[in-house]
Amino acid sequence: MKTLYNFSAGPSVLPKEVLLDAQKNLVDFEGCGMSVMEMSHRSKEYDIIIKKTEELFHEVMGIPDNYKVLFLQGGATQQFGMIPMNLLAKNGKADYVITGIFSNTAYKEAQLVGGPTGKTISAAGSTKEENYKRIPEQNELKLDPAADYLHICENNTIIGSKWKYLPDAGKVPIVSDMSSCILSEPVDVSKYGLIYAGAQKNIAPAGVTIVIIKKDLIYDPLPGTPTMLNYKVQAENDSMKNTPPCWPIYIAKLVLEYLQKNGGLAAMKAHNEAKAKVLYDFLDSTDFYKSHVVAKDRSIMNVTFRTESDELDDKFIKGSVAAGMSNLKGHRDVGGMRASIYNAMPKDGVEYLVDFMKKFEKENK
Ligand SMILES: *Cc1c(COP(=O)(O)O)cnc(C)c1O
Repeated sequence: MKTLYNFSAGPSVLPKEVLLDAQKNLVDFEGCGMSVMEMSHRSKEYDIIIKKTEELFHEVMGIPDNYKVLFLQGGATQQFGMIPMNLLAKNGKADYVITGIFSNTAYKEAQLVGGPTGKTISAAGSTKEENYKRIPEQNELKLDPAADYLHICENNTIIGSKWKYLPDAGKVPIVSDMSSCILSEPVDVSKYGLIYAGAQKNIAPAGVTIVIIKKDLIYDPLPGTPTMLNYKVQAENDSMKNTPPCWPIYIAKLVLEYLQKNGGLAAMKAHNEAKAKVLYDFLDSTDFYKSHVVAKDRSIMNVTFRTESDELDDKFIKGSVAAGMSNLKGHRDVGGMRASIYNAMPKDGVEYLVDFMKKFEKENK
C-alpha cells in the first residue's frame, strides 16, 4: 500500500503546501527563467533568498540581534566536532550531559578533538546506566564553572526523551543539539550560547545545518582548525565562504514562511502537544505497549514504545506498513517502534496510528 502517513525520524515529512510551492517554482523560480538549483549563489536572486531565510529564523524563533545564524554542511554530526574545535579555544574545558546515543557520540567526538592537546572533556551527568530512560535532574549534574560550554542534546531522537528544563550552568554557555525539536515550540534563545540542528527533522531536506551562535562565542578556534569548520570565517562570510547548500536553504525559507502564516511556534507547540497527547494517553491506558521513557521526560516529537517481544514488534511494523504507515520501526540500536511526529505530521496521522494500535492489540493479546 502506498504511504498515507510517514513517521520517519529524518529525513522526514514536510508540509504539503511547501512541497507544492517548491514544485510550482521548481523549473522557473518566480518567473526569473531558472530553477533555484541552477542559480549562482552569488546572484542577486539567491542573495535575496539566503538573507530572507536568515531574517525569518530571527523572526520565527525570536533570535536576538547578538546572535548569528549560520547555514553549514556536514549535518549535526559535523557540529559534534566543530563545537569543540571552536569553543575549547578559551579555557580548554567542556561539560557534556549524556542522555542518549547522539549526546554520547558528541561527547566522544569532543574527546577526539580535544584529547591530543590535553583538553578536559567531562561527563557532567549521564543516564546511560538506566538505558537513557530519563533526563537527569539539576542536582545530579557536576558542572564546572570554568568550562567553555555545557553541551546537552535537548530532544533525544532515538530514545524519545526531552529536556523539560534548561540546566542552570551559571555563566557557562549552554550548547544545545536541537536537531529534532527546533521549531516545534517557542524557545528563549537568549538562554543559550549556541543552538544547532540538522535540517532534515523539522526544517528542510537534508543538506543544511543550522547553527545559531551568540556573537561573543565567535572567537579564534583551536590551531589547525580547517577554514570551513571555523565559525568566525563562516560568520564573517555570512555562510558564503564557499557554495552553501542553496536548495535546502530555499526550502527552509518556505517552511519558515509556512510557520509564520500558521501562527508561529506557539501554534506549533499547541498542535504538537495535542498530537503527542493522543498517543501518550493511549499508551498510558494499556499494558500491551510499553513506553521506553519515564512520563515526565517524554518527547512530543519522537514517541518510542514496544510490545512484549521482538517478534510481535516485527509483526506490528509489517502490519503498519500494510496499513499505509511508513518508518515506524525503532532505531537499529534500540529496537521496538518509534513514531516521529514532527510539525508537518497532521493530528489525523496520529489518530490513524492509535486506531491501528488498538486493533493490533485486540488481535494479538
Ligand atoms: C539526527 C540527529 C543527529 C544527526 O544528524 P545528522 O544531520 O545526520 O548529522 C544528531 N543529533 C540529533 C539530536 C539528531 O536527531
